[in-house]
Amino acid sequence: MIDSTRSSLVGGLDLDIEFDAPIGALTWFGIGGHAPMLVRPRSEDALATLLSRCHQTEVPVRILGGGANLLVDDSGIEGLVIKLDHDCFTSRKYNREGEVDRALVAAGSDLFQLVNETARHGLDGVSQLAGVPGTLGGAIRMNAGGNFGDTGQVIESISMLDMTGRRLELNRDELTFDYRQSSVPNGIVCSAILQLEPTDPVKVRNKVREIFAKKKASQPMADNSAGCAFRNPVIDGQRVSAGQLIDEAGLKELNVGGATVSPRHANFISTTPQATARDVMKLMTMVQTRVHEHCGASLQPEVVIWSDDPEAPRP
Ligand SMILES: Cc1cc2nc3c(=O)[nH]c(=O)nc-3n(C[C@H](O)[C@H](O)[C@H](O)COP(=O)(O)OP(=O)(O)OC[C@H]3O[C@@H](n4cnc5c(N)ncnc54)[C@H](O)[C@@H]3O)c2cc1C
Repeated sequence: MIDSTRSSLVGGLDLDIEFDAPIGALTWFGIGGHAPMLVRPRSEDALATLLSRCHQTEVPVRILGGGANLLVDDSGIEGLVIKLDHDCFTSRKYNREGEVDRALVAAGSDLFQLVNETARHGLDGVSQLAGVPGTLGGAIRMNAGGNFGDTGQVIESISMLDMTGRRLELNRDELTFDYRQSSVPNGIVCSAILQLEPTDPVKVRNKVREIFAKKKASQPMADNSAGCAFRNPVIDGQRVSAGQLIDEAGLKELNVGGATVSPRHANFISTTPQATARDVMKLMTMVQTRVHEHCGASLQPEVVIWSDDPEAPRP
């Protein structure tokens, strides 16, 4: 990106900029390349103007949450990456109305903090997200969750900007949340109103501890990964565990370079600091091929891959 384009995009706006930013290093995999610009807006107005300018000049924009479900290609990506980590994008406000508590939660809020803080306040509603890393914005986009529930079930409304910088307010009945996906339009979620339930704080804390312990017992939480690499496929009308299919195909510990199918949980791909994003992509392709050969199932990636390279060995 040439200097005059850079300054026409960000000139006069309240934001922080990093040039040639190591985006891959900001993900939970901790691998992958750079982007020409990483922008951290200090206000929603600055973000809206930035999106509008990028739209007008056709500069690609991507939004990075906590990077917990993301693989960035080794060669990096074009355009601009936005991260919502200034105060106005990480705030949380609680409001009691009769028996229902609503929380206005900014999209850059860390999920661990949100889960622990609501438990401390004796509010249930997000305990199902105990142990899920990332931000609320990423969790809404992915409808993150698992056996204990998902993100969509607690959303009353969202406030967002579309890719032209236009504000949208969407209520629950205008959104759908399905298995690891949402109908949230293309754009950036800025905040959400969550509908929480007042409960005994000890009860919520115990529930959070129990869910976290179950996750920790079955998943390699301390490894560099993006959680589940593949979506659980539907076979004969039933959603089947991708991890079980990978395990049954005998693929635990299969590796390419520094990327390995976890021996703890076969749907996790763990990486060493020496791994490349291409190692992960090649391993994912091998897993898809071998599982298909073994049982006929087609695995689709759950991990979001950022790559501008049409030659990349995309799973
Ligand atoms: C150890 C581990 C365990 C995990 N366990 C689970 C689990 O149990 N259940 C589960 O569902 N997932 C799990 N994951 C995956 C991950 O935690 C979730 O997908 C999470 O919601 C990702 O949030 P994020 O903020 O990190 O998003 P990112 O990884 O940064 O981004 C994911 C997608 O969301 C988009 N996005 C991010 N922020 C916004 C925003 N504000 N507005 C619009 N779009 C946005 C990004 O552009 C990208 O397309 C796990 C991951 C790890 C590493």
